[in-house]
Amino acid sequence: MQFIDLAKQQSLIKEALDSRIQTVLGHGKYIMGPELKEMEATLAEYVGVKHCVSCSSGTDALLMPLMAWNVGPGDAVFTTPFTFIATAEVIQLLGATPVFVDIDPKTYNIDPDLLDAAISKVVEAGELNPKVIIPVDLFGLPADYPAIEAIAKKYDIKLLEDGAQGFGGEINGKKACSFGDAASTSFFPAKPLGCYGDGGAVFTDDDDLYEKLVSVRVHGKGGDKYDNIRIGINGRMDTLQAAIVLEKFTLFPNEVKLRNKAAAKYNAMLADTVVVPGTPDGYTSVWAQYSILAKNDAERQALQAKLKEAGIPSAVYYPKPLHQQTAFAHLGYQDGDFPISEDMSQRIFSLPMYPYIPDEDIEKIVEVLKG
Ligand SMILES: *Cc1c(COP(=O)(O)O)cnc(C)c1O
Repeated sequence: MQFIDLAKQQSLIKEALDSRIQTVLGHGKYIMGPELKEMEATLAEYVGVKHCVSCSSGTDALLMPLMAWNVGPGDAVFTTPFTFIATAEVIQLLGATPVFVDIDPKTYNIDPDLLDAAISKVVEAGELNPKVIIPVDLFGLPADYPAIEAIAKKYDIKLLEDGAQGFGGEINGKKACSFGDAASTSFFPAKPLGCYGDGGAVFTDDDDLYEKLVSVRVHGKGGDKYDNIRIGINGRMDTLQAAIVLEKFTLFPNEVKLRNKAAAKYNAMLADTVVVPGTPDGYTSVWAQYSILAKNDAERQALQAKLKEAGIPSAVYYPKPLHQQTAFAHLGYQDGDFPISEDMSQRIFSLPMYPYIPDEDIEKIVEVLKG
């Protein structure tokens, strides 16, 4: 059994994929080719925003808006410690200070009340300038944007949605990657909409930000790439990867439904055995991961061992919250500072999840977990 089986998806679109790839080889515009523009237009329309700026990864999709907003030393950027390193890494990379805020145990996403308190504390201390909030749509569930957008407004700071796992999710019909001032996503192969390499995109309705993102993406270009008006990066996505995303996107809306069907089946069968993930009213998750909670680390280890014995892969996202990572030791956080994230990291684990997971696989996984 596989954790994510990409081969099934590929078999459904093999011929069309081959044809798309041949088209790119034929026109030879490997950098910034027509497929990129087409992909950006297609995805902006799906998300319901004005602009999509493709880029080289989900990490650069977080970095580029922060660069466009001149985030740097002296700035505080608020985010969750229960996420992939990239979310906070880009803050540090620019010399700004990550300020962690604990999560809501029901959604694993940043807790709006704690966020408000954390910003208020930084304002009172007067040492750092509160600049950006980066909530994460963890495991595919959008963060609480109605509450977070109000907080961003209250303190007049930017809001950047980390939708690397969230693309395809919704809150009351409004798509993930449409919240805040800008949103980022990733096309890493294992993400809900993946390519066959690295890729990402930034979404925004802000024309001024759009112009800056396009500049930052290609070495801070002005009129052309040999006129440089700011420091940027080489942040382009390959035309070939855009061609692959375009073809995979034809399956995507149905895949969101299939992922929800699989999650509902897991939930129904596992609710009496472990803590299953909840979805608040009006929210749709895209189930980038299907993650459950054991009672403690010992029970988790025992359950994972049983799965392994039966040839079933499982994974832990995330075993160590970011405030406990060596890379962030200089921030001076202590064990116990973010009790919910720390507790989850000791209990959580994820089961195989992808749109085409067979019902029999889910049944077998449940049987092993219950056995
Ligand atoms: C995967 C991921 C990223 C980074 O995306 P890459 O394309 O791997 O650079 C950022 N944030 C979160 C929450 C992610 O899961």
